[in-house]
Amino acid sequence: MKIHPAYEMLRPGKKFPNVWCPGCGHGIVQGAIIRAVERLGINRDEVAMVSGIGCSSRMPVYVDFNSLHTAHGRALPFATGVKLHNPKLHVIVITGDGDALAIGGNHFIHAARRNMELTVILMNNNIYGMTGGQYSPTTPIGKKASTAPYGCAERDFDACALAVAAGAVFAARGTVYNAVELDKMIEKALTKKGFALVEALSPCPTLYGRLNKEGSAVKMLQTQKANTINLKAAEKLTPQELEGKVVTGVFHDGEAQPYTEVYQQIINKAQGR
Ligand code: SF4
Repeated sequence: MKIHPAYEMLRPGKKFPNVWCPGCGHGIVQGAIIRAVERLGINRDEVAMVSGIGCSSRMPVYVDFNSLHTAHGRALPFATGVKLHNPKLHVIVITGDGDALAIGGNHFIHAARRNMELTVILMNNNIYGMTGGQYSPTTPIGKKASTAPYGCAERDFDACALAVAAGAVFAARGTVYNAVELDKMIEKALTKKGFALVEALSPCPTLYGRLNKEGSAVKMLQTQKANTINLKAAEKLTPQELEGKVVTGVFHDGEAQPYTEVYQQIINKAQGR
C-alpha cells in the first residue's frame, strides 16, 4: 500500500493542530511543497526549510525536514549560510509578504543578485497576519488594514518583477485556488540552480478578508479565481482590460552561474589550486 507523502513529511504526533485559521491558504501551499518534493524523489533529509516570522513562517514547525525558524525578515541570510555550508541540500525558504519584502526586503534583493541557490516560497496574503493585520508592501492601494483603516495609501510591490530585476533565475506567481499549477511551479523552482521565487497568493480570511469585507474563505477563493489571469491570456489584453487583475504564470526561467560555484572558484584561487 502506498503511503501518502504528507504522512512521512509531517510531524503529526508533535505539532498538530497547526496555528493556521480555518480557511487560511497556507495549508494548500504546504501540500504543494510536499507533493513537489515527493514527485522529484528528494529525500526529506536532503531538504532544509528555513523561515522568518509570520503565519506562513510557521511551516517548518509542521514539516519534518531539517528546519530553522529564524528572526523576522532574516530567513534568507540564514538560508544562505545553510547552503554555503552544505551546497548539496535543497534549501527552501518560507516567507511572507511582510517578512520578505519589508523588513527582509534588502536581503531579498541581494540574495537574488548573488543568485544564491534557494527555492523561495513567498506566501502573499497582502497583509501581516500574525501580528494583527497591519498593511504590508503588497497590500493593494486603497485596501484596508488595521494600520490603514481608511485604505492603504502606498502602491504595492510586484515581488516577481523585483526578483527578476535583481537577478533571480526563476520567478513565478501562482494561487492556492489553482493548486495543481502551484505544485508544478514549485517543482520547477526546486530544479533551478540559482535564486528561484514562487509567489503563492494565499488568502487570509481572518484579517484581510474581514477588514476588506471579502466574505468567507470560499468566497475569497472564488474572488481569487475571478481576479487572476494567466500570463498567456493577459498578453492579449490591453492595460485597461487588465485593470484590477493579477497576472499569474512563469515570468522568467533563465540560467546564471550559481553563487556556490563562483564562491568555490574564489576559494580555489586563494588556495593556489
Ligand atoms: S491570520 Fe490570516 S494568514 Fe494568519 S493563519 Fe489566520 S487566515 Fe492565515
